[in-house]
Amino acid sequence: MYEHFFQCPYCWEEISMLLDVSVTRQTYIEDCEVCCNPIELTLEFSDSELVGFSANDIEQ
Ligand SMILES: [Zn+2]
Repeated sequence: MYEHFFQCPYCWEEISMLLDVSVTRQTYIEDCEVCCNPIELTLEFSDSELVGFSANDIEQ
């Protein structure tokens, strides 16, 4: 697992999530641990390195 820190698109707090490096491309919804809003995470790994990451508000 890979721990990644980023800002929540709702509350702008810095949060961390554990990412699964075994899946190259993933999109899923995870709740913010601070404000509990659902964040859409899109990520991409290459050779266990995080090469793409975005965290978006799903309510727009
Ligand atoms: Zn939040």
